[in-house]
Amino acid sequence: MIEFKNVSLRYSNGVEALKNVNIKINKGEFVVIVGMSGAGKSTLMTCINRMVVPTEGEVIVDGQTISKLKESKLRVLRTQIGIIFQDYNLVKRMSVLRNVVVGRLGHTSTFNSLIGRFPQADLQLAMNNLKRIGIDEKAYVRADQLSGGQQQRVSIARVLTQQPKVILADEPVASLDPPTSHQVMRDLKRVSKEDGLTTLVNLHFIDLAMEYADRIIGMRDGEVVFDGHIDEVTEQT
Ligand code: ADP
Ligand code: ADP
Repeated sequence: MIEFKNVSLRYSNGVEALKNVNIKINKGEFVVIVGMSGAGKSTLMTCINRMVVPTEGEVIVDGQTISKLKESKLRVLRTQIGIIFQDYNLVKRMSVLRNVVVGRLGHTSTFNSLIGRFPQADLQLAMNNLKRIGIDEKAYVRADQLSGGQQQRVSIARVLTQQPKVILADEPVASLDPPTSHQVMRDLKRVSKEDGLTTLVNLHFIDLAMEYADRIIGMRDGEVVFDGHIDEVTEQT
C-alpha cells in the first residue's frame, strides 16, 4: 500500500531528515514508527500525502508514484489518507457531531459542506462512527467540553467518516496520560482492523508500540534502524 524507495530528504536549512529510507507497508498493516524527537518520523509521514517532497527516491501509495501525480489526482489521493494529530485539531466551538461530519469534506459538494449543510447520510455515518468509538452520547456537546482523550477519540471518528484507505497518526497520544493513551491506541487499532485500513502511528514510547503494533519501524537520525515484528524487538533487547 505504501512504499519508500531510496528516499532521502534534505530541508532547505540543510537538515537531512530522511536518509535512504526503504520500506514497504502492506494493506491492512498497523505499523508503529518509533524514534526520539527529530528522528524523522513526521517527515516520513508528510511524504506520504506529499506535504513535503523527497530530494531523492520515490514514494508509492496505492500503486501511484506520488511525485508524478497531477493536482487533481493528488486531491483524490489526499481524500484517501486520513490524518490524526497530536493536538486533535477539532473546531472547539462546534459540536462533536459537526466535527466528525467534517470528515466528509472533499467527498461532499464543497459549497454545501462549507455552509454546514451535509447530507443526512453523512450525518448518519458520522453518528455511527461516534457509536463505534463509544462516544455518541457526546454528539451534541461542544468539542472543547471534552477531555483530551475524548477529543482524540472524536478525531478518530472524524477520520473514519472520511472513509480513507490509509490513516497517519502523528504522536496521537503524546498529550495524554498512560491509561488514556492505551484507550486511544486500542480504539485506533480496533477500528483500523475492522475497516481493513493501513495505519501508521508515530510514537516515542516503545512500550505502547510493543503492545499494539503489528510491526515496528525504528528511526534514528533520519535512518530506519529497525523494521520487524514485536518478538524480534524483544530478542534484540
Ligand atoms: P515533533 O517532534 O512532534 O515532530 P517538532 O518540534 O520536531 O515536533 O516539529 C514540529 C513541527 O515544526 C513539524 O511540523 C516540523 O515540520 C516543524 N519543524 C521542526 N523543526 C523545524 C525546523 N528546524 N525548521 C522549521 N520547521 C521545523
Ligand atoms: P520527528 O517527527 O521524529 O520528531 P521530524 O521529521 O519532525 O522528526 O524532524 C526531523 C528533522 O528535520 C529534525 O532535525 C527537524 O528539526 C528537521 N525538520 C523538520 N521539519 C523541518 C522543516 N520544515 N524545515 C527544516 N527542518 C525541519
